[in-house]
Amino acid sequence: MSKVKGVKTGPEIIVRKFLHAKGLRYRLYNKKLPGTPDLTLAKYNTVIFGNGCFWHGHKGCKKSNLPKTKTEWWKEKIEKTIERDKISKRTLKKLGWNIIGIWECELATKKVKTTLDKLFAKVIKET
Ligand SMILES: [Zn+2]
Repeated sequence: MSKVKGVKTGPEIIVRKFLHAKGLRYRLYNKKLPGTPDLTLAKYNTVIFGNGCFWHGHKGCKKSNLPKTKTEWWKEKIEKTIERDKISKRTLKKLGWNIIGIWECELATKKVKTTLDKLFAKVIKET
């Protein structure tokens, strides 16, 4: 996968710890599903993508500012990633999956627990 390495380490651990604390079981990097979701909660028909703000072009986010050199090249590269994300998500929806997307910057704040609680409210309610 072309995702930024940082997402696989720090921020992702936060999400995994959160799920663990809630007693939600997940599977990592499910290659059988479109886009290889970072985490899959099969029991709740939910997949989770941790998105690096830069690589996935988080709109209006400071972290997604393009480099001043080779700007066009980066722009094209990131647009391709966004397009690929869209296709994967569309396919997953068709297959009946709920999709939770978490941005890198959302995990880098002190409010991260509230953010995660909100994102997972629907899933947790069903437990
Ligand atoms: Zn962001």
